Amino acid sequence: RVGWMDRLKTGLKRTGSSISTVFIGTQIDDALYEDLETALLMADAGVPATEFLLQDLKRRVKEVRATDTAQVKGLLRDAVADMLAPLERPLVVGVYHPTVIMVSGVNGAGKTTSIGKLTKHLADAGASVLLAAADTFRAAAREQLAVWADRTQVEIITQQGADPSAVAFDAVGAGRARRKDVVLIDTAGRLPTQKHLMEELTKIRRVVTKADITAPHEVLLVIDGNTGQNALAQVKAFDAAAPLTGLIVTKLDGTAKGGVLCAIAREKPVPVYFIGVGERLEDLQTFKAREFAEALVG
Ligand code: GDP
Repeated sequence: RVGWMDRLKTGLKRTGSSISTVFIGTQIDDALYEDLETALLMADAGVPATEFLLQDLKRRVKEVRATDTAQVKGLLRDAVADMLAPLERPLVVGVYHPTVIMVSGVNGAGKTTSIGKLTKHLADAGASVLLAAADTFRAAAREQLAVWADRTQVEIITQQGADPSAVAFDAVGAGRARRKDVVLIDTAGRLPTQKHLMEELTKIRRVVTKADITAPHEVLLVIDGNTGQNALAQVKAFDAAAPLTGLIVTKLDGTAKGGVLCAIAREKPVPVYFIGVGERLEDLQTFKAREFAEALVG
């Protein structure tokens, strides 16, 4: 079986190989930096992160008096790893009882799948989980979440047609009454442009706080690694509706370019708790800046 690191590497291969191509020559000159700039922009790193990385790399090159391009490539890996390091943080549960986690995202980002994976991850770590389907509108969404609940053997709370924030409120109470370690609230998929739905997210958050003054303890956004620079816009918009505490970046096993994590690190840093590297329950991995940088730089 192919390991997840290999799948991450395969996913980011195109980015890795176009960055690697930059270092084929032997000269450390302006042309090298220009090609690197293009490769980083093509990888969705965005202008601010690209400029920062180039400056940082030049400084490192000078500092160690690098003489060959392979060495420069190694320094780029270091620069990317250092840039991404602040995003590497573990999701901590067990401080609050229950730990209340809200999960949001645009449709198709991989939210439902990620909730299933996260449930398994938490259950494997010994935590009891209560799922709350606060997507009360779409029957298919509730059913899909119920399938994941069944697969991971956890209880689920849902109420067809109810107000999403009412379901979230009840779930927090039920989580406390049933002594669950974690209450995981799935919210309906929405687009940042859907103003009323973004306001609904703000409302769910507010109502969750009514149920437990310390909650929500985590507000997660699931983003599709293939979304490119738009992922950054999503992070900003969802954060404005309900301040984010963490991200799950999915589909990094596919054709994702991956550079958007640099853009997020530079422009709107939010911890990346997990990355999705496949469709199975096991395919959720904790984010490691160094490993990611190595896959990205090739
Ligand atoms: P939602 O609309 O955000 O709830 O998205 P879903 O969870 O239904 O996922 C949409 C599609 O993406 C499904 O076909 C999932 O199997 C797939 N998917 C989710 N995460 C990953 C991942 O990390 N890798 C791959 N290859 N596919 C994924």
